[in-house]
Amino acid sequence: QVVTRFAPSPTGYLHIGGARTALFNWLYARGRGGKFLLRIEDTDRERSTPQATEAILRGLTWLGLDWDGEPISQFARADRHVEVARQLLAEGKAYKCFATQEEIATFREQARAEGRSTLFRSPWRDADPSTHPEGAPHVIRIKAPREGVTVIRDRVQGEVTIRNDQLDDMVLLRSDGTPVYMLAVVVDDHDMGVTHVIRGDDHLNNAARQMMIYEAMGWEVPVWAHIPLIHGPDGKKLSKRHGALGVHEYQGMGYPAAGMRNYLARLGWSHGDDEFFTDDQAKKWFDLDGIGKSPARFDLKKLENLCGRHIAIMDDAALRHEIEAYLEAAGRPALTPEQGDALERAMYCLKDRARTYPELLEKAHFVLTSRPVEPDEKAQKALASVSDGILEELTPQLQNASWTREDLEALLGAFAEAHGTKFGKLAGPLRAALAGRAVTPSVFDMMLVLGRDETIARLTDAAE
Ligand code: GLU
Repeated sequence: QVVTRFAPSPTGYLHIGGARTALFNWLYARGRGGKFLLRIEDTDRERSTPQATEAILRGLTWLGLDWDGEPISQFARADRHVEVARQLLAEGKAYKCFATQEEIATFREQARAEGRSTLFRSPWRDADPSTHPEGAPHVIRIKAPREGVTVIRDRVQGEVTIRNDQLDDMVLLRSDGTPVYMLAVVVDDHDMGVTHVIRGDDHLNNAARQMMIYEAMGWEVPVWAHIPLIHGPDGKKLSKRHGALGVHEYQGMGYPAAGMRNYLARLGWSHGDDEFFTDDQAKKWFDLDGIGKSPARFDLKKLENLCGRHIAIMDDAALRHEIEAYLEAAGRPALTPEQGDALERAMYCLKDRARTYPELLEKAHFVLTSRPVEPDEKAQKALASVSDGILEELTPQLQNASWTREDLEALLGAFAEAHGTKFGKLAGPLRAALAGRAVTPSVFDMMLVLGRDETIARLTDAAE
């Protein structure tokens, strides 16, 4: 069974890069009936906060990336990490090193002066335990291989070969007895049964050191896929100056999570020419072979375009639900049940060209507002452009009209013609009267959604 994991360090919020890593792991597991686990790498006690953990979980939840089981705290597993280091020590695969910081510094200086590698070579590596200074502070180091090479078989980067004489005897336990991060990651991935590690390629260098621990323990190495980082449109590493980085910021701006998932999936992974796809398709298609080797560039226009397409295919009731959640998250006033119902009824004519929920809500203004409709500035201008008396003339005709799109189109067309003009000329003032806005769904859609009485009442109000 496939087991993947997302292992964020809780030092901030969930950013675009982390979200993409989580998404890849989620897609890979979900597409294969596997498990997607969450591990909070909170061993850095200074920088980790519970607020950051909360923020990351909220971000994942909004994105719809559900994980299996409870999130695991890496810090809480410290005893187990120590146990593994002790086992390696007992098996002679690790050793106690009593070298002081000063001795190490002196070693390096000398090496530098003599033009040798400055990698520390501990004199304690092969020392007889009887020579150990009793009770003296020490670290525990792994006995790294000195000859040959370490090969990392990476599903994205290919084979990465590191000469073993370039690796030092990494510390596993510090002199205060705490385990180092590198040990914690390997032990946790092993104990959690992780089969595939998909993570940023900033961790590729760590993989060689992690490999040593796997080999010393005789554990199976997971499949590694180190994915290129995300860049901004200018080709530089994605950062604040490229715009919003936090997933919560996109939520706050009203981007649909489905569009975000689609876009993030395409950020560094491809499936032929497919740009727009559903979760089910993504789960079916996602694989490690489709991950590119060069950094993907973040493109807000593409994100918006995909978001618009996802809004357009969403089920009306689901969309209403999403918009209500958006309003709450954005701290905007909630819809009344009546407004919610009206919104849902109007959805068919709102969801076609909105890329975000605020855009959709702007178009929805006509169903969310009530009489008297307050025209905004543009709407006032549109109303002023129509000659006096026209709207009054129209209302009695609407009184008896059959209320279908075809009949209303015919009626308004004939009405415009009778006044020596085109319907297009009347559309602006009608929009203004019905919605109080210049950007609205079509006049006919508004009339159909509002119904005869409300339509006539609003036109009458505007004529006064
Ligand atoms: N905690 C690491 C990070 O946030 C991830 C480590 C890993 O995936 O192995 O970058």
